[in-house]
Amino acid sequence: MTQTLPEISPTGAAVRTVDAVVIGAGFSGMYMLHRLRQQGLTVQVFELADGVGGTWHWNRYPGARCDVRSMEYSYSFDPDLEQEWQWSEKYPTQPEILRYANHVADRYDLRRDIQFETRVESTVWDDEAERWTVRTDRGEVLSAKFVVHASGCLSIYKTPEIPGLESFSGPWYHTARWPREGVDFSGQRVGIIGTGSSAIQSIPVIAAQAADLTVFQRTPNFAVPAHNHEFPPGYQEEMKAHYPEFRQDARTSMLGIPHPPAEKGALEDDPEARRRRYEKAWHDKDNTLVDLMAAYTDMLTDKEANDTAAEFVRERIREIVKDPETAEALCPKDYPIGTKRICVHTDYYETYNRDNVHLVDLRKTPLVEITRDGVRTTEQEFRFDALVLATGFDAQTGALTSMDIRGRAGLQLKEHWDEGPRSYLGIAVANFPNMFIITGPQSPSVLSNMMVSIEQHVEWVSDAIQYVQEHDLRTIEATPEAEESWVEHNAEVGNSTLFPTANSWYMGSNVEGKPRVFMPYIGGVGPYRERCDEVAAKDYEGFVLAG
Ligand code: FAD
Ligand code: NAP
Repeated sequence: MTQTLPEISPTGAAVRTVDAVVIGAGFSGMYMLHRLRQQGLTVQVFELADGVGGTWHWNRYPGARCDVRSMEYSYSFDPDLEQEWQWSEKYPTQPEILRYANHVADRYDLRRDIQFETRVESTVWDDEAERWTVRTDRGEVLSAKFVVHASGCLSIYKTPEIPGLESFSGPWYHTARWPREGVDFSGQRVGIIGTGSSAIQSIPVIAAQAADLTVFQRTPNFAVPAHNHEFPPGYQEEMKAHYPEFRQDARTSMLGIPHPPAEKGALEDDPEARRRRYEKAWHDKDNTLVDLMAAYTDMLTDKEANDTAAEFVRERIREIVKDPETAEALCPKDYPIGTKRICVHTDYYETYNRDNVHLVDLRKTPLVEITRDGVRTTEQEFRFDALVLATGFDAQTGALTSMDIRGRAGLQLKEHWDEGPRSYLGIAVANFPNMFIITGPQSPSVLSNMMVSIEQHVEWVSDAIQYVQEHDLRTIEATPEAEESWVEHNAEVGNSTLFPTANSWYMGSNVEGKPRVFMPYIGGVGPYRERCDEVAAKDYEGFVLAG
């Protein structure tokens, strides 16, 4: 199917021609804009929100903060930027990260090329013109040589498939669309559905304010203590003095967070030595999200090895939570630790020792409906003044499949991904020329410190675009063979781990009807970068370049 470009848009405005359209103004879209502009391209960014920051614009729930250390979860592309910005604590809060995003937007004068409060509805490849036609919900039509999807892995939030939400008479809030002015729960009875990272961060904060908090848990999660703290004097200066080496270590690491490689399997250590390692990962105030799982080589490949760490965490939960029944309900038992994203908590388990906090185990008494007054399980109706939904996202593919994206001959991306995402390097898709995805499925993305992965992708994509421009080429497009072999490689690497044994959003299991496929690339940030660099060095091996 070919599509002829209309000369005027439905609003009567002329079709605007740009070199590149970038969708999204989170950390991916902002850096993409900066790079492409530096390369002399005309760029239009569209962003649904009324400001920059993406994730950190939308997720304003109480307790929201990063769980990668601040000095690692920041851009490294400009030494002046990383030297001038002052972080205040180990794990920055959402407001602090949003201030940083705004600082970046101001510093590089990004806003003049970002149109806010605009949703891109479709991007359609015009086979004749060999350009993308991009349409927005404001009726604008643009013609662009390149389209970059920087629309986020965790940007399409999900309300639960529970009947009756519309009948609830009080207010309800999704963690990913929290009101800007905040919510005062003082004196209120609050119910929260979900126990993923967003809930684990918000529950202690809401519990401290509300009169009463009831947590509805379907699956318990493993959470390690944050030990968050303000930086001691001199710490930041010392880190900054070694930033280049530190950043380089992150780029070549497995997860985008520097960590000494494990030397042996968990069962090769005796139980006492193993316990000492786990204790360190648990108690060290400078610990990171990855320490526990990175302690041994086989934590994510050998169930028995994995069990040793899982049991260690369950023991800690039983130690902290005073009521044995609540403690047992909070202990994850039916999936290996690390195969659902590990959470980082501040007083999460301790919060269940408060008199005003109650846990409802939905495994025992399933949720039936949301009613006018609250929530009904198979056992009873709970009455609430307000409800919080911490029910997650249509992760990794949601932002892409909810848009109408059509490549050659009208092929719809959603159709092409009917049985799960298919891409080359997680960046490009066969039959979708001149289209790039930042931290797409089948790249390390959500299995890494995403700032490291974002920078790597943005730099690789902008280099590829520069190559096309400098060589006077019309198109760059992944071959079906390269795509097929990357899909196979992903499946092979993913299936060699314990990940597919869990019902996680990594597997698409949290969205009804979504194909059950392990979506992120588990081969490691460093090795993945090497592969991408090798592809570029071989004049974009696996891509067809048409002049
Ligand atoms: P996003 O920040 O999601 O930005 C994408 C933007 O695209 C959004 O603003 C969205 O509105 C816009 N958009 C989407 N579709 C359209 C459309 N059709 N038209 C116009 N605009 C559109 N990662 C870590 O590494 N460490 C962490 O500690 C961490 N914590 C997180 C905490 C939360 C609560 C969440 C939800 C995610 C967290 N992440 C974390 C992952 C986080 O998403 C990434 O780190 C990073 O912020 C993603 O940046 P991005 O620009 O790629 O995507
Ligand atoms: P999530 O991890 O997907 O958690 C959603 C929760 O809602 C799960 O406990 C899920 O239970 C529950 N749920 C969904 N539908 C339900 C239903 N119908 N009935 C009952 N329970 C239901 O989402 P999230 O907590 O927003 O986190 C998503 C990701 O964002 C994280 O994994 C992480 O990558 C990132 N994040 C990071 C941080 C951070 O610490 N920096 C904070 C927040 C988010 P099931 O497990 O049974 O499906």
